[in-house]
Parts: sequence; C-alpha cells; structure tokens
Amino acid sequence: MKDEQLGFATRAVHAGQSADPATGAIMTPVYLTYTYVQETPGKHKGFDYARTVHPTRLALERNLASLEGGKFGLCFASGMAATSTVIETLSAGDHVVSGNDIYGGTYRVFTKVFQRLGLTFTFVNAYDLKAIEAAITPKTKLIWLETPTNPLLQIVDIKAVADLAKKRGIKVAVDNTFATPYLQRPLELGADLAVHSTTKYLGGHSDVVGGAVVTSDPALHEQLKVLQNAVGAVPGPMDCFLVLRGTKTLSLRMERHCVNARKVADHLAKHADVAKVHYPGLAGHRGHEVAKTQMRDFGGMISFELKADMDRAMKMISSTKVFSLAESLGGVESLIGHPASMTHGSIPREERLKAGLADGLIRLSVGIEDADDLIADLDRAIATSK
Ligand SMILES: *Cc1c(COP(=O)(O)O)cnc(C)c1O
Repeated sequence: MKDEQLGFATRAVHAGQSADPATGAIMTPVYLTYTYVQETPGKHKGFDYARTVHPTRLALERNLASLEGGKFGLCFASGMAATSTVIETLSAGDHVVSGNDIYGGTYRVFTKVFQRLGLTFTFVNAYDLKAIEAAITPKTKLIWLETPTNPLLQIVDIKAVADLAKKRGIKVAVDNTFATPYLQRPLELGADLAVHSTTKYLGGHSDVVGGAVVTSDPALHEQLKVLQNAVGAVPGPMDCFLVLRGTKTLSLRMERHCVNARKVADHLAKHADVAKVHYPGLAGHRGHEVAKTQMRDFGGMISFELKADMDRAMKMISSTKVFSLAESLGGVESLIGHPASMTHGSIPREERLKAGLADGLIRLSVGIEDADDLIADLDRAIATSK
C-alpha cells in the first residue's frame, strides 16, 4: 500500500520501518556500527559510512518525512543542529527575516554565530504580514517562522507568508516543534522546510535530544544532505531509536495534550488571580481564527501572567507539585517554567519586552496526566503564592 494513502496514526507507527530482514525483528534495530562491509570497492547495500547514512537514522528520516507530508527527511544531533544546518545553506551577505518571538537558542545562534559569519537578520512580529514585507530586502533569502510562537503562543499565517515569499523567490522555514506534524504541516501550507527539535513532542518522553528537517524540494534536500554529511551534526543510533519509538504514539499523546491544555486554559482564563492567558484555542486569542484553519487542534502549550509582580510568579512556579519546574516541553509530564530567566534568558530584556514577553510570564507544557490533578496543582500553587 502506498504510504500517502494511509492515515497519520498508521504512518506514525509504520512509515520508514519494516521487519528486520535478518531476523524479522519488528522494531528497527539500533545498529551500533559506523562502517559496512563492501563486496568490491563501492559495491555495498547502500550504506558506506555512518555519518553519511545509517539504517536506524534512515528509518527515522523516512518516518518524519512521511508525517510532515514531505519527500525527504534528515535528522540531526539536536534541534539547534537542524536549525544551524538550514542556515548553513546560505552565504555571507544573505539576509534572513525572522519572527521575533522564537526559541531563545535560535535567536542566539542567529545573532551570536551566523551574524558574525556575515549573514544579517531582521526580527519582526511575524503575525504582522506588513512587518515581514517591510523587512524584505533584495538580499533576503529566507523567512524563519515559529508558530505557535514560543512562549507567547502567537499564530503566524503560514500560507500567507509562503504566498508572499514565493512571489519573491524567498524560501520559508517553519520550526514546527510546538505543533508537531499531527497538528500542523507547514509544507502543505506552502513552506519549503519544516524544522524540528525532536527532543520535544516527537520524542515525547524527555529522554533524548535530536532534530530534523523535512522538505519536498529536491535541490534544497540535496544541499542539506551534503551539509549533514560535511558538517556532521548527526544523531546517534540509540537517539534515533528513541524518537522512532516516540512517534509511534504521537497522535495519541497529542490528542491528550490538547484536551488537557484546553481544560487548563479555560480554567486559568476564569481564575480571579490570572491577568492574561495565551492559548490559541481560546476564542479571544488574536490568532484563534488562523489557528483553526491551519492546525488540527491547539496544542499543549500555554503561557499566562498572574495579576501581581514578578516575585509572586517566582513563588508560584516553585510551589507546584505535579508540574515540575524545568526547561523544555513536549514530554508526557507537565512542566512549568519562567521564560524570562530560563528558556529566553539569552534574549536581552529590552528585546524580550519589545516582543511582549513580560518578566512575570509563566509557561506551561501541559502533559498527559489527569487534567483535574493539573488544575488542582495550579490552583494550590497560585493560592500559596499570595
Ligand atoms: C527546544 C527547541 C529548539 C532547540 O532544540 P534542541 O533539541 O534543544 O536543540 C528549537 N526550537 C524550538 C521551538 C524548541 O522548543
């Protein structure tokens, strides 16, 4: 049966994988090898050296390509390695327009590493199409988006940006880590690249660091594949195995993340001590209508502000019992964090405030536990922080 005739959940379990020809093992083996025996020089089974091509990695690359509805997948040692490899397709002098509400590490690698190597970046409110348009110069080669954004959960209209970019011959990359291909498929909306930190929802169990890039553009894929091999930021076989195991349950986990997040967001929105809730599933959210058209559901991430100062926020996030205070997101367990001092600490305060990231903002990665326990935990922590 052709892969594209199968539904998402079926592809999540099977795409890129088949029983091991040597043993019939149903799980893709963790091939701990870095070279492969050749019959005569250059005559082999498609594998020559593990940085270049690796069977466990290949299964994951095919699986992720299928889930994103793309032709080609490439895996990397981390989300940052995936992002960096995309930027390495550019040359000194090229210009990138990027959303300003992005993962802190992405902002850091753009401004601290690639800017030094001669690329230029302009950061704009990416939900504002006019701002994107105004930032484009004759040197612009790439538009970098994240949606929903981190940590403000703003929604960028991927199709509108892709339309605007295509007319000018500019590529569009979407960091799809927050939504996952279960909820949103950027390539189907006209983007050229879907980028992932597989560390988060795709792995899903907080036990692996990895990244991926999916595209349907053969030339772009070729360029990325050369870079994957030349630069060498590849994941190990065990890491690929863990992400492959994660994607098998992606649809189930995402469904539960979404149901729980909606309950938590609805509850917080009614809470007397909460000033603001950012969740694209709420009818009052600025991006709600666009989110409804480009996402299957609204995801597991929420951020909110308490009606009080920063001290109270700090106290609150340190007193939850079910939510763990930790960096990161996307695992089965619920996490709570303070973006200004944790994930987004590398962005200057001035830039943070300009992007709307308040000092007291609290971010939740809502896990797959019982929603009632999560809500009770937040209520208790809000009460004790008074
Ligand atoms: C975590 C994250 C990254 C970076 O991924 P690593 O695997 O930690 O390198 C990039 N983008 C987003 C949206 C993330 O959440």
